[in-house]
Amino acid sequence: MKTVLAILLTGIAAISTSAFAAPAQPETVENLGKTYAARYAGVAPKQWGERVTGVRTRLDTDQKVIALTLDACGSAYGKGVDLKLMEFLNQEQIPATLFINGRWIDANPELFRKLAANPLFEIANHGILHKPASVTGRSVYGINGTQSVTELVEEVELNARKIEAVTGKRPKLYRSGTAYYDEIAVEISNGLGQQVAGFSILGDAGATFTAEQVKAALLKAAPGDIALLHMNHPEAGTGAGIIAVVPELKKRGFRFARMSDYPLQ
Ligand SMILES: [Zn+2]
Repeated sequence: MKTVLAILLTGIAAISTSAFAAPAQPETVENLGKTYAARYAGVAPKQWGERVTGVRTRLDTDQKVIALTLDACGSAYGKGVDLKLMEFLNQEQIPATLFINGRWIDANPELFRKLAANPLFEIANHGILHKPASVTGRSVYGINGTQSVTELVEEVELNARKIEAVTGKRPKLYRSGTAYYDEIAVEISNGLGQQVAGFSILGDAGATFTAEQVKAALLKAAPGDIALLHMNHPEAGTGAGIIAVVPELKKRGFRFARMSDYPLQ
């Protein structure tokens, strides 16, 4: 009888801790960094580029659907926003995925809140400091990548939490500053629940294309393509190119989607 009572009490105690205890505190970013550093200790990455193992570059569909992805990078000369483009997308009800860097959020807090509240737009993670995603400090275009596993975890996780703190929603997709990765960084980002979002169409070449070049790039779209573009350079040809090409793509039977509307491949 004593034993039965003990079992019953133990059962009640177990229920009370599992069902009624306060939810566990989220792991600190520091501890996450330590966990991943230990897991990948002594593992050297072999790949470096935009299409390394694990990067998703297309929507998994045969339908005439394209994902427009607009990066907001937030460097010293990239804190702007192409309001005309964003208003066009809103008016025409064209969905898009917005990859937002932490520094751009700090420069545009009200606009960020407004964009995030619009269900047309999916908010995705573009890193806290816009660094190439390396676990060994590789660089590209003269921009230094994250120096270690722990710095990579900070780059991804701090901005995921920053976005969630404002929007109430944790992003599901991560694109690094410059869209460069090693394959270990990609694995870690996936492990953090931030699937790595590549692209299949270079839409504006870092906001350097003219409107005509943007239009020509997007007119090559095939079902499932993901176009990499920018929303933070109103002076560039990107906005005018998108505004010019959307009616033409619609005429050709294309629709637009957020990346998370489809499984990725
Ligand atoms: Zn960027």
